[in-house]
Order: sequence, then C-alpha cells, then structure tokens
Amino acid sequence: MILELQRDSRVPLYSQIVTEVRRMITAGALKVGDRLPANRELARTLGVNRNTVSTAYAELVADGLITSRVGSGTYVSSVPAPEAKQARGESLSSPMPWEALLAERGRDNWLHEMAGFYEQREMISLSLALPSADLFPLDDFRRCVDHVLRKQGRTLLQLGTTGGYPRLQEFIASQLALTGARVTPDEVLITNGCQQSLDLIRQILVGQGDEVALESPTYPGALSVFCGAGSKYISVPVSEKGIDLDVLEDVLSQRRAKLIYVVPSFQNPTGCTMDHVSRRRLIGIASRFRIPIVEDDIYRELRYDGPAIPPLKALDEHGLVIYISSFSKVGFPGLRVGWIAAPRIVIDHLNRVKQRCDLHASLLAQAAIHEFAKRGLLARHIKRVKKAYAERRDAMLGALERHFPDLTRWSRPNGGMSVWVSLPDSINANQLLHQAVEGGVSFISGDHFYASSPSQNSMRLSFTMAGPEAIEEAVKRLGLMIKARLARIRRAQTPKRVDSMRALV
Ligand code: PMP
Repeated sequence: MILELQRDSRVPLYSQIVTEVRRMITAGALKVGDRLPANRELARTLGVNRNTVSTAYAELVADGLITSRVGSGTYVSSVPAPEAKQARGESLSSPMPWEALLAERGRDNWLHEMAGFYEQREMISLSLALPSADLFPLDDFRRCVDHVLRKQGRTLLQLGTTGGYPRLQEFIASQLALTGARVTPDEVLITNGCQQSLDLIRQILVGQGDEVALESPTYPGALSVFCGAGSKYISVPVSEKGIDLDVLEDVLSQRRAKLIYVVPSFQNPTGCTMDHVSRRRLIGIASRFRIPIVEDDIYRELRYDGPAIPPLKALDEHGLVIYISSFSKVGFPGLRVGWIAAPRIVIDHLNRVKQRCDLHASLLAQAAIHEFAKRGLLARHIKRVKKAYAERRDAMLGALERHFPDLTRWSRPNGGMSVWVSLPDSINANQLLHQAVEGGVSFISGDHFYASSPSQNSMRLSFTMAGPEAIEEAVKRLGLMIKARLARIRRAQTPKRVDSMRALV
C-alpha cells in the first residue's frame, strides 16, 4: 500500500492517512476483504509513530470502513457512502483534529497488544502472565460478596474514605508483618492495583526531566508509567540475581535518579529473584545515594521452590522503600485491588493524588476480598494455584529441554508466572511470533520489555494459563519452527561461503 503524506502540511499525519486509505477504498484500489498492513509495519514504511497509525486506523474503524480482527489483522470492511454523510450535513474533509489536541499520548497500547491473542479460541496462550481463570473459586467468592453485601451493603455502596476499607488495611499490615516488615494500617493505601500504584507514585515523585532507574528488561506497565514522552530513565541490566548492582552503583555515582523501580521476586519478564545478600546491598546503595526504592512484590506468594527471602521492605531500616503489591496474581486481576505500604508522609501525599484520580477504590471489591481472606479461602486458593502453576512451570522447563535447539537459553524461575528465553542471535522473536500465531501458539516477544535498545531474539513464555499437555504441545511447535528457521538461515549462508571460497582459490 503506497500512501503519500505531506509532511509540511498542517493537516495532521493521522488525518492524512485516513484520507488516503478512504480515497483508495473509494477508488477501488483497496477492496472489501483486503488486508491492511499491521500498525507497526505501516508506521515503519511511512516513517511515522505507531500511535499515528493506530489513531488513523481507529478512526477508519469508527467510520465502519475497516475492521480489526484480533491476532489476524486489519481488513477493509466497507466502501464509504459519501452521499449519506453529505445528506446528514457532515464534513468529509475536516475531521476533529484530536491528534493535535492531545496533551499526553502515552506509550503503545501494550496491554491491548498483549491481550489480543488471548481472545482467540484455538490459541495456546503462553503470552499472558495472568492467573488461570479455570481455577477461580467462583462459588466461594460469590458467598463472600453476598455476605458483605448483606451485612454492610449500605456502607459499602456509599462513598468511603480514600485510604481504603479499614479492615483490609489492617489485614495487609498484618500480612506484611509475617514477612518481617513493620507497617501500621495507616501506612497502607489501598489502590486499584499495582498499575495505579505506580502511576500515583510517579505523580508525587517524578517531575518533568527527572530520571528513574529501571531493570532492563522490565514490566511494560512500568515502562508505560515511567518512560512516556519527555520522561527520562536509566536502564540497568538484570542478571540471575536481579538488578545488576555494580552497574546500578556505577550509574548512580554519575547520574541522579529520582527512584529505583525493582521487582525483586520472580521478576517479570525474566523470572529471576534477588538473593538476600543482594537485597541488603541494594538497600545500602539506595541509602547511600538517598534514593527511594519502589519494590513491586506482586509475585511474592507464588513461590514454588527455593528459600523464602524477605522483601526489601523488611530489610529497610532507613524508611526508603515504597512497597506495592496486589491481589492480581494470587487472586483475581479483574477485581482491581492492590496497595502501597510506605512511610506516613509518602502515604499522605499519595492519598491526595488518589483522591484527585478516583476518590477511592471500590469498597465492595475491598470488603469481598477481605472476607475471602478472613475465611481462609485466599490462603487455600493460593495453595491450590501454586501446586498447579508449579506443575505447569515444570512442564514448560521439561518441554524446553526436549524441544528447543541447543543454542537457546532460558531462565529457571523458582516462582512467578514466566520463563525468559534467549533464542539464537539469528532468530527474530517478532518474526517467529507471526508464524507461531498462525500455528496456534502465542507468546510475547522480548522487545516489549525494554525502554530502549530491545533485544530482538528474546521471548517471554508464561506458563499459568495453559495446562501441562497444552504447554508441551505449544513448546514443541515453537521448537520445530525455530529449528526450521535455523536450518533455512544455515542453508542461505552456505552458498555464500562456497562463493567466497571459490574466490579465494
Ligand atoms: N507489576 C508487575 C511486575 C506485573 O507483572 C503486573 C501485571 N502483569 C503488574 C504490576 C500490574 O498488576 P495489577 O493488576 O495489580 O495492576
């Protein structure tokens, strides 16, 4: 598809794309059923931002001219009916210039992109680090919702206070005490999950031009919060022991970071865990440079083997750790309940920002999950899912051993939801993904997890959503695809070598 864009025009680029695609459909150059290039591909061809193409496609979808089928692509779905529009008095040539009006664009629509494959029926999903919905104890949870509604319905459906449902704040403080972290209930703010916690923390601590130190690779939701337009970041590599402390120390002696964001247990995406000694050293470094640490401990309870290691929060004698977690991995991500535990002065500021955002998290959701925990059902559920996920993790590690080629490397996590795979250098994970999706397997290519300079040959395989047999099958299919690609690459290289040898003779 060849589109002509006028870069010096005052018409926004997205709008020009809309007009051009519309023109091509009207002229018959694009017919109903024709496939349009993927966002990324068209953005690359045109030399524009992916958001520009997404905005243009969204407008064409809204006009009914194209449809997006998740995981399959974008297709022409109808021909414009200009007469109908003109009859309604609508202008054809001057759509609302939303792109130009936007004050903040945000990063890619990463969650949507990742979730896309999940919705397809026949797909074996290794893409999402989410709990298996098949294991949700729906009846137990329904009884808890019924109970709290019956007992406290009028309070729970009324507006509450920003800090959270007091009994849940107390419960969180008591759970943290079990890990060795001393936190009072008023040092806990209930949020709508870790994602919101990160955004609230950014709002109170990270100003324009401030730098944030992040693990590389890291959780894409954190990238979307800390690495938006205009923000600065410091990428620090992750090794088997978590964030590389030598590099971090080095970097902090030259640059001033406003905070350090880490996932010390079963990191997303690598699955790696910081050992006790490294955790103490990290606290020491942060204390020396007077930099707060945001500890994202969302996977802590999903430990299948290896020793329990205290969270940074429990080792922090300086009051520098802001601790975040949620019920999304151990319970139900759709409930949207998480928390921040931090020194009182930090919580007070977060409280104000939270109030500005949405007043408070849903009281019904908070009370229901509290009841679920109080009855011992959460602990029982966690025990059950840990058993299932440990089996699935083992199934994945075994399948990787059996089916992936020799030059592939992968992490062996003691917990969490994902394995991080480094493919041979010549394999591009994004190209492999396209083939894999056709072959009924989805995963996330590694480039989503980097703020910059992404690795092209890595992939995250999550093992919680599919059962052991499906995991075996999916990894087997991926292994065959990778081996076939390697063989093709080798074949393509062989004649060149022969030619150059001939030249030498
Ligand atoms: N942090 C990490 C490391 C995650 O992996 C995720 C979810 N994938 C989140 C935060 C977001 O969690 P929540 O649902 O609590 O917002």
